[in-house]
Amino acid sequence: MTVSVVLFTSDLRLRDHPPLRAALDTSDAVVPLFVLDSGIHGAGFDAPNRRAFLADCLGDLDGALRERGGRLVVRSGRTAEETAKVIAETGAGDLHLAAGVSRYAGRREEALRRETERLGCRLHVHDSVITAVPPGAVVPAGSDHFAVFTPYFRRWSQERLRTPHGAPRRVSVPEDLASDPLPERRGLAGVAPGLAAGGEREGRRRLLAWTRSGLDAYEDRHDDLPGDATSRLSPHLHFGTLSPVELVHRARARGGPGAEAFVRQLAWRDFHHQVLAARPAAAAEDYRTRHDDWRSGSAAADEITAWQEGRTGYPVVDAAMRQLLHEGWMHNRGRLLAASFLTKTLYADWRVGARHFLAHLVDGDIANNQLNWQWAAGTGTDTRPNRVLNPVRQGRRFDPDGDYVRRWVPELAGLAGSAVHEPWRLPDEERARYDYPAPLVGLPEALARFQHARGIG
Ligand code: FAD
Repeated sequence: MTVSVVLFTSDLRLRDHPPLRAALDTSDAVVPLFVLDSGIHGAGFDAPNRRAFLADCLGDLDGALRERGGRLVVRSGRTAEETAKVIAETGAGDLHLAAGVSRYAGRREEALRRETERLGCRLHVHDSVITAVPPGAVVPAGSDHFAVFTPYFRRWSQERLRTPHGAPRRVSVPEDLASDPLPERRGLAGVAPGLAAGGEREGRRRLLAWTRSGLDAYEDRHDDLPGDATSRLSPHLHFGTLSPVELVHRARARGGPGAEAFVRQLAWRDFHHQVLAARPAAAAEDYRTRHDDWRSGSAAADEITAWQEGRTGYPVVDAAMRQLLHEGWMHNRGRLLAASFLTKTLYADWRVGARHFLAHLVDGDIANNQLNWQWAAGTGTDTRPNRVLNPVRQGRRFDPDGDYVRRWVPELAGLAGSAVHEPWRLPDEERARYDYPAPLVGLPEALARFQHARGIG
């Protein structure tokens, strides 16, 4: 009997899963394996919201495999070592997994290569599982990656995507293979009260609802903060319960300006992945340094804490930061505002903000998080690195009636309309009725400080 191991990582689905498809096509039995990686745990990357979502995903994957006569095998420890044990226990001749882009994924792949060579097992690393277009598939002349999105998107759009696979009908798993228990969401501490549910089934439910009733209006409504009219598919893309290739195909099949704008965002995701794949150090270091001497010391620390807790005195920033704490997710416009505020208005290091986001975001992802933070801080791929978002103007524009602020900052719920964006303008007596802080810093002074630091203006 021929056996293949399929190592699941950020691709927790049965539909459109090239490694699983290849394993099923070439062997009699397959071991669907997930390793609860002690390295990820040791690095603190398994923040409670992502652990909870992961537990949902693994439970769902196991259930879907059982419906097909199989099951998920779970092990705990170092991924390469645990995978090697499973290969040795089953005599597997092939190991399939999806290509990753982070430095961690690269090291994991190297370790798996060593183990498989030692065991005489063939290693197959599949592209176009975690991204639609693999990093490195499109490159400009003379470089190993695109540093600017627009030309990348032009080339990305011309790539022919593979046809998505359906889910397998049957999966036979060797018997008598030990598995650790599935992790459970119940009882996990520190999980956001409004965290969404995970799993491929839930992802598909959202995808179908989104394609039916959100996608067409996406171009017009993606920045509408109170309207909450984006897909909210990011955690499913992060954990791979949905396939980016399938999403691009579906959106293109629907067509129209909403679908085109959505595909463009999926290309942004691939764009950041190809930057990180080529420059893994960008996870922690400036991609393009602006020689910033970020503020430090106790005043800066207090302001950062106020930012984290949603007490900056700028209502739309605070609303966004509180949405993060409540849901483990934040609207993209909120992320842009919150990141610009931290890095440019408070002039605090983008790494501090990125760390806080990674501690809470259910879709928290090294490629998208670190590179979007760098974009917002002007140390990344933004072609206008010194632009500063004004939280009052942005609030008035993207939350014109103030509903987003009132939803997340209940202290201000009594303020009608867009006045909620500038509570400091109220007469003293009235302002005293609201238990809400004064702005941490004035916007003109903050702008002058930033421009001075960057040597502009
Ligand atoms: P939609 O608007 O419906 O977009 C569809 C999909 O396109 C998203 O699910 C996402 O996969 C992708 N996408 C959209 N915008 C971007 C973008 N700017 N960069 C990369 N991919 C994008 N996204 C993450 O997935 N993980 C993160 O850790 C993350 N951190 C961010 C930090 C900052 C400071 C900023 C400004 C953005 C960050 N983003 C991150 C990108 C973006 O905000 C989210 O992907 C998006 O808000 C998710 O909501 P949605 O699924 O409804 O998106």
